[in-house]
Amino acid sequence: MKIICIGRNYSEHAKEMSSPLPTEPIFFLKPDTALIKDNQPFYYPEFSKEIHHEVELVLKINKAGKNIQTQFANKYYDEIGIGIDFTARDLQEECKKKGLPWEKAKAFDGAAPIGKFLNKKQFVDQQNINFHLTINGNKVQKGNTKDLLFSFDTIVSYISKYFMLKTGDLIYTGTPEGVGPVKIGDRLEAYIENEKFLDFEIK
Ligand code: MG
Repeated sequence: MKIICIGRNYSEHAKEMSSPLPTEPIFFLKPDTALIKDNQPFYYPEFSKEIHHEVELVLKINKAGKNIQTQFANKYYDEIGIGIDFTARDLQEECKKKGLPWEKAKAFDGAAPIGKFLNKKQFVDQQNINFHLTINGNKVQKGNTKDLLFSFDTIVSYISKYFMLKTGDLIYTGTPEGVGPVKIGDRLEAYIENEKFLDFEIK
């Protein structure tokens, strides 16, 4: 399976990064070795001094598709969950400055904790889903899908022009504002509406 992540999909986050708003979706990949499941801890890597949390809603692909039209994109994912797009911000800044690819900063081992999923039918309105992240009990990020620059269906359609989507692929749909550093000892909990979907520690 593969993990596809959308960058800058909430305007307030693009602003806090001093990045221009994209005119089409920006995406990058993480390997399956980035996944952390079952609330296992994240081990802070020694190559970075600035690991940032980015809480994101995640789509799970349920059938193979290529060149999917937007109006049919909804048929290609059946579950929605939540995860963290961990980012070594110090390495990312360095890569950006040098015009180098971002993988070192985004795709390292453990860079994609993932929580449990819900069938998308459980959501009354996919354009109005609240989610948030707490660290040690304090709310640090909150978002609502009404603020997405590119909708779930637009993203699925766009990605499938370049990569064939397969069952089990995951799409991290972008982070709202409020990204920031984590440190050893922190406990991260991610919620969709008021239900906890992910709960793990930084070690
Ligand atoms: Mg992200």
